[in-house]
Amino acid sequence: MEINDKLRSLPAIDSLLSAVATDLEIKQYPRELVINCLRQAVTNARDALRKGNDNAGSQAALISQAKVLLKKLNQPSLRRVINATGVVLHTNLGRAPLSQRAKKCVTEIMEGYSTLEYNVALGERGSRYTHVEEQLCRLTGAEEALVVNNNAAAVLLVLSALANGQEVIVSRGELVEIGGSFRIPDVLRQSGATLVEVGSTNKTHLSDYEQAIGPNTAAILKVHTSNYCIIGFTSQPNGAELAALAHKHSLPVIEDLGSGTLVSLTAGGQSEPTAAQRLQLGFDVVTFSGDKLLGASQAGIIAGKKQYIAPLKKHPLLRAIRIDKLSLAALEGTLMEYIVGNPAQDIPVLAMLNSDNAILKERANCLKELILEQNNGVIAEVITLNSPAGGGALPAAVLTGYGVTICRQDMSAAHMEKYLRQQEIPIVARIQEDKVIFDVRCLLEQDLAVIASALSTSF
Ligand SMILES: *Cc1c(COP(=O)(O)O)cnc(C)c1O
Repeated sequence: MEINDKLRSLPAIDSLLSAVATDLEIKQYPRELVINCLRQAVTNARDALRKGNDNAGSQAALISQAKVLLKKLNQPSLRRVINATGVVLHTNLGRAPLSQRAKKCVTEIMEGYSTLEYNVALGERGSRYTHVEEQLCRLTGAEEALVVNNNAAAVLLVLSALANGQEVIVSRGELVEIGGSFRIPDVLRQSGATLVEVGSTNKTHLSDYEQAIGPNTAAILKVHTSNYCIIGFTSQPNGAELAALAHKHSLPVIEDLGSGTLVSLTAGGQSEPTAAQRLQLGFDVVTFSGDKLLGASQAGIIAGKKQYIAPLKKHPLLRAIRIDKLSLAALEGTLMEYIVGNPAQDIPVLAMLNSDNAILKERANCLKELILEQNNGVIAEVITLNSPAGGGALPAAVLTGYGVTICRQDMSAAHMEKYLRQQEIPIVARIQEDKVIFDVRCLLEQDLAVIASALSTSF
């Protein structure tokens, strides 16, 4: 057949519609949408025919393609994945999973109206910022606290309110870039402040800071190097010395803590300072994320002295970076976990970072058995593994745990890894030495069966 004949012989939309009239899968969708997807399928077939693909355009092929298009519209792009990478705070995979208490708070708030900006005692307008302030002050020892959209916004707000048009002193060892193009020098510029760099990459002395203080200095900023370490011939003044210097000159000292844990935490041989410890040392304002080590939703927490937090509450930028009610609900639920609950056990991030090795080993064995039971031709082995904590926390920590490697004679690891990613619930695994590895640290109970059965469907 000539190409034009083939194009002409493509079925009409009407005949496709009658062919699917009793199809149960198609029936669940609005008619207009079905027509729209059938048209799209025909258009695609026309393009394919023109490109020389002779097989395109049968009625069955068109209907099946329309079904794929419909199914895609019926599936959220943002969806659950199984994290088999072992990286607890995986920024690409949504950072912190929430605790049950946080989940309960979110569910309750999302399904109805709430006290978001309503004061029930007075029957009048309230503020969204009051809901977690008391808890944050209790947990950090701060006089006042404020929450915004994320920590990047928190740093921007603090610098905009306290240092616009003035200078901020930062050590050259702390000009951090975190993922997604957040760079301290850029954020400083955006806030209208001028960066004054002091010291060198590996060493900054107290005298470097002191010499840089001038009439136009607004603050000293310390940035937690949350995704790298400088080791070897290094030094930085300690927090107390830096605070004393700033206060001698009547300046605030601000710290971007990055992850900012609320409880003493040591994992994989490294510990993070708590927000309370930093404020206790003399820092006037600290900022940190809600969805890193704290284990809650995306949020930026600002805590410190009333004198510096109060102006932030009135700053015009605040409205543009405000926290939304679902994040706020999740944050409040998580903070309650710290105050009245058992954070080490019930906040998933903390529980995963400190998972007992015996439990991880048992989970790995269980996964291996499930895989072997359901799959012929797959070689599965339990191995010990090292993984990072991830997501701007504990950069030097090495968490030792367990995982399962799999390999098949008839298939490369790269092919299998790709196949696993394309499952209904995508499974994100690692590859090492041409083997697919499932690190079991971040796997939930029900994930094991999903992984085993994904492997048993034919590739
Ligand atoms: C992660 C991080 C940020 C940004 O926090 P977000 O909550 O992701 O906006 C800022 N500074 C440091 C040092 C960080 O580690």
